[in-house]
Amino acid sequence: MNKKNVKVILTSRPDGEATSECFSIIEEDLVDLSSGEVRIANESLSVDAAIRTMLRGEGFHMQMGIGDTVFAGGVGRIVESTVDGWDVGRAVRGPLGAQSFSKLSTEHLELLEESNLPLSVNLGILGGSTGVTAWIGIKKVARPKPGDLFVVSAAAGAVGSIAGQIAQKEGARVIGIAGGARKINHLLNDLNFESAIDYKSEDVRARLAELAPNGVNGFFDNVGGDILDAVLENLALRSRVTICGAVSQYNDMDNIHGPSSYLKLAERQSAMEGFAYFHYPEFIGPAEEELKQWLHEGSIQLAEEVIDGIEKFPQALAFMFSGGNLGKLLVKVH
Ligand code: NAP
Repeated sequence: MNKKNVKVILTSRPDGEATSECFSIIEEDLVDLSSGEVRIANESLSVDAAIRTMLRGEGFHMQMGIGDTVFAGGVGRIVESTVDGWDVGRAVRGPLGAQSFSKLSTEHLELLEESNLPLSVNLGILGGSTGVTAWIGIKKVARPKPGDLFVVSAAAGAVGSIAGQIAQKEGARVIGIAGGARKINHLLNDLNFESAIDYKSEDVRARLAELAPNGVNGFFDNVGGDILDAVLENLALRSRVTICGAVSQYNDMDNIHGPSSYLKLAERQSAMEGFAYFHYPEFIGPAEEELKQWLHEGSIQLAEEVIDGIEKFPQALAFMFSGGNLGKLLVKVH
């Protein structure tokens, strides 16, 4: 192929925010495929909060080395193949990396079914780090009951907006916490959450005390830090706190600001439990099946925020950490 690969590599580990200075954009010739490999023209890449944790020396899930292509899950189409059944034109999903073309062994990839939906649904509603995480986190870990008052943080983000909708499907009354009027409007008017708190302009502790005078029964936390403390202060008796992530801590993982109100768990006879979706491999298939069914019947939605151009991947990450994205953040490549 007479084309070049454009890739984003890590050149220095960020101290604080991951700014564009920590990355370089490199153009390189395409390398010939080895047996068992395919070449993919990458279409959409998933910008995940966890990428920030992989940029440090010691990874939370895994780490990237200096000079490595920045990790990113993605979807694309095969443009060259050495493997029977993995034909040119087929859509695939996998760890494609922040680059325009990927050369990977098929053992790291999944072939995707063709449908009339955009390929990006396989990163959003049907994505492992998005819809599947929310499904497992709500249905297998948080387990809200009908009538529960249930709080979700980063509620207008990718995982949060699906988690809140699934909690509603389980019969819970959902309060979302997010930053800014656009997100609050989305939670109340598009996702039909019962209430929403703008942590950038409201006092979360005080608003929760007003909205839930008897306390909240469950909390699905994506943010950590002060927001986790504010919800711990407002727990009902025998409530459950689920730690999905702690995005407010990812820029400084050497100085994690833990919950100072954790004794509320003892006072309110409550439990706190963390999870990663890959701890539950047996539920990934069932999660995908049910999410697919909801997607086809139109009973679940996820907004997409799309940034165009592989060279914008670093800016996309910074955009997420400034709270810019509504719904799933994607970088469109081809
Ligand atoms: P996302 O929610 O689409 O985007 C992150 C959002 O976090 C931002 O839009 C911003 O929204 C909020 N945020 C960023 N910095 C913040 C800060 N300093 N304080 C408060 N809020 C801040 O991202 P995502 O990829 O879907 O990830 C959401 C969470 O799920 C993360 O904690 C991630 O680690 C976790 N996760 C866990 C698993 C698992 O298996 N457990 C898998 C995937 C993701 P607002 O400003 O509106 O809050």
